[in-house]
Amino acid sequence: MAGDDGRVLRDAASGELARRFPWRWLDEQAVLPLRIETGAEGPTAWVAADGALSALVQTALEKRLAASLRVVPTRASDIRAALLAARTPELTTDGERITADEQLASIDDLRAQASREPVVQLVHAMLAEAVRAGASDLHVESTASGLRIRQRLDGVLRDVQTLGMEFRAAVISRIKVMASLDIAERRLPQDGRTRVQVAGREVDVRVATLPALHGESVVLRLLDSTQSGATETLESLGFSDALLSRWRQLVHRPDGLLLATGPTGSGKSTTLHAALRERSTADVKVVTVEDPVEYRVEGAVQLPVNPRSGFGFATALRAMLRHDPDVILVGEMRDVETAELAVRAALTGHLVLSTLHTTDAAGAVQRLRDMGIAPYLLTGTLRGVLAQRLLRRVCAACRTERAPGLAEQSAYAAAQQRWPAIGPSTLSSIAFGTGCSACSGTGFRGRVAIGELLEPDVATPYSLPDLSGDGWRAVAAGLTTPDELYRVLTVELMG
Ligand SMILES: [Zn+2]
Repeated sequence: MAGDDGRVLRDAASGELARRFPWRWLDEQAVLPLRIETGAEGPTAWVAADGALSALVQTALEKRLAASLRVVPTRASDIRAALLAARTPELTTDGERITADEQLASIDDLRAQASREPVVQLVHAMLAEAVRAGASDLHVESTASGLRIRQRLDGVLRDVQTLGMEFRAAVISRIKVMASLDIAERRLPQDGRTRVQVAGREVDVRVATLPALHGESVVLRLLDSTQSGATETLESLGFSDALLSRWRQLVHRPDGLLLATGPTGSGKSTTLHAALRERSTADVKVVTVEDPVEYRVEGAVQLPVNPRSGFGFATALRAMLRHDPDVILVGEMRDVETAELAVRAALTGHLVLSTLHTTDAAGAVQRLRDMGIAPYLLTGTLRGVLAQRLLRRVCAACRTERAPGLAEQSAYAAAQQRWPAIGPSTLSSIAFGTGCSACSGTGFRGRVAIGELLEPDVATPYSLPDLSGDGWRAVAAGLTTPDELYRVLTVELMG
């Protein structure tokens, strides 16, 4: 089921066809008329239902819709959640009371609201829809008129739903209950985690709340263990073969420091975990310190750090060095103490992988110096810096091609002249997605990684392209679009 089906259901639930039936009856039977099409054999009504209809329900629907029926198989909980979201007027009495008392609501009230079955189902349906669409985050934001629900899909936020005021406290409290947060605390940020079972999958959810102007906002990060980061290999990330073979040589060295850089969401930790997965064998001890542990690595010892409780990166790293590791992942080098420990570990026979928030590879070296790491420590220790970005991948289901524009042709030609290996000398066509149900109408599904690799020990001239050159390689290969490349590289010029 595609991500947009939730929206189709919600539209139908507030539509004219649904209003021909009592709300309660639709809710009880978990059926929802979607649309009527008139063909050669007369009108056909498409009805969402979980399995076959009973004869009684079928007759009732046929009569009132004056059409023959076709069932669109849909989970009952999805239908009920859509009906609930459309039912605002009927909830008003209850809702007004909740709104007026929101600030004063007792913990018991909040707990009661949060445990009401429709609210439980609504939150579950929101999560299920996000997981099915392949979203990485679900944003639940309090606004002046209720709740705004957005998903981050392949790195881009999009609106999915708005809910009335009567849901605000209930939905937020429900999420807080799920994540074992204090529902009475609404003025301080909190974070927690939970695990949900949706669409037959186990999904870890990190929950963070923030008290904002109109009330609390919540962001749920979905860490689907069956998805991307958890199973990604260095190949499946989409890097060029040339970059991959050099990076892999570095990953298989016994010692030294390797860094992945890029802004948040550029896939740094996915790349490093894929590298760890290659090194995690019976004769190699792999240890990680992370905040939090995002992806599990088979055979590795993974330590979640908790800076607020005093168990920060430096403390964890020091403790872990006594555990005789061969390969070490330090989630992030946030302070000079951690950076220095990591560099010293790399100097003393360990392979150390870590990340830095810099935009390009050269910036990483400067950042380490700015942090106070002596240059002589980096010489011969820092073996490679991989700056990377994730671009949205053209949807395979609705992929088509167009002729390139003049500006696109000349930008590509300039890059190709500099790095001939990125593709043919001219750009003959550009792939794009027209939008379909597999990609929620966006034309993109999944991501492709581009990168530039700096090897401080390797003398120039260097044949690998920089970030934008590698981006054109991905465009020429039909993996992504020029607009997507501009979007990702421009965002950071401005921020
Ligand atoms: Zn598509």
